[in-house]
Amino acid sequence: MRFVNLLPTAAYIHIPFCRRRCYYCDFPISVVGDRPPIHDSFGTIAEYVEILDQEIAATARWLSPAQPLSTVFLGGGTPSLLTVAQLEQILAQLDRQFGIATGAEISMEIDPDTFDRQRLAGYRAAGINRVSLGVQAFQTELLAACGRTHTRADVETAVDLIHQVGLTNFSLDLISGLPHQTEADWQASLDAAVGLAPTHISVYDLTVEAGTAFDRWYQAGVAPLPSESSSAQMYRLAQQRLTESCYQHYEVSNYARPGYQCRHNRVYWHNQPYYGFGLGAASYVNQQRFTRPRKRRDYYLWVQEFAQTGQIDCPVTPSEEALLDTLMLGLRLAEGLDLRVLATQFGERAVAQIQSCLNPYRQKGWVQEEPATARLRFSDPEGFLFSNVMLSELFKQLA
Ligand code: SF4
Repeated sequence: MRFVNLLPTAAYIHIPFCRRRCYYCDFPISVVGDRPPIHDSFGTIAEYVEILDQEIAATARWLSPAQPLSTVFLGGGTPSLLTVAQLEQILAQLDRQFGIATGAEISMEIDPDTFDRQRLAGYRAAGINRVSLGVQAFQTELLAACGRTHTRADVETAVDLIHQVGLTNFSLDLISGLPHQTEADWQASLDAAVGLAPTHISVYDLTVEAGTAFDRWYQAGVAPLPSESSSAQMYRLAQQRLTESCYQHYEVSNYARPGYQCRHNRVYWHNQPYYGFGLGAASYVNQQRFTRPRKRRDYYLWVQEFAQTGQIDCPVTPSEEALLDTLMLGLRLAEGLDLRVLATQFGERAVAQIQSCLNPYRQKGWVQEEPATARLRFSDPEGFLFSNVMLSELFKQLA
């Protein structure tokens, strides 16, 4: 296996606080209560930001980065529970320790009804130049059925504020396959999202994760959750509605106006290195993948130990695993994978195995290979829709 071993120029920061836990969520978060001001939780968040500072500094000491960051992504959780001062503290520390390049994409996930105009303007002044708004649905009753704290009116206010403060690059997140959601509801959400003219739209199909409230209440594919065929139809509806509105379907779950693909997430899909910071966050540096503890106390102890020892010991990702990661991530992209690059990294034999494994699916029209460019890709929408079937076959045969 041949790698160009560069240190990351992308950083993910996890902000693990939410007002309430949505019924489908299994993310590592702490619930801080419904309405601001949340004095106790601000104390907690302030303490967390201090720990983040220590982790960022320890990482820079460990790796001595030479290149500045070209993408930063604050995800959660609900990063818009941060005060402007807390956001400034995090960005200033990243800039001090790594440098943030001119023109860097600095994204932040924000949730409706967690910020006002002043706070959003403050985020923008601090350097945020792309926001991703967690809309999920435009039907207030569906939102309530998921345990979301916002309404449709809150979404419209949030988008209005985004425009008012001049954040022209914004994304909306939608979820299909919600309990009680009909195809007509989904179509209405797609129409409403397009009507708000974001630069980017993400559409996710609900997964019922173990240990969540939905896991206790519902069974995948059984009412009130939509059937498997209805969920598949919702995926096709999204592809049709968004592509006809000039959004490029550039990744399984993501659509963008030309020039507005998420640069940070492309780093993951290209299986390139990235820093992760914060509770439960994953990193990929020096060909090593590691994940931080998901409980706050354990994470704080982990940072303390890392700061003292100055390094993280974990094995280098083995070649077979790196190949599977590359396939699993790269085949999510509409542009697919360059087989010549794969052959250079993992050998001609691995490429021949992949082609033979995917051959039956090529006949179904789910896989396309362009001899002129040597690109292998899943077709849109059917190949994307059944990507899990093909990936699990690849895993079986290559692992
Ligand atoms: S807002 Fe997002 S991270 Fe927070 S509980 Fe809901 S789904 Fe989970």
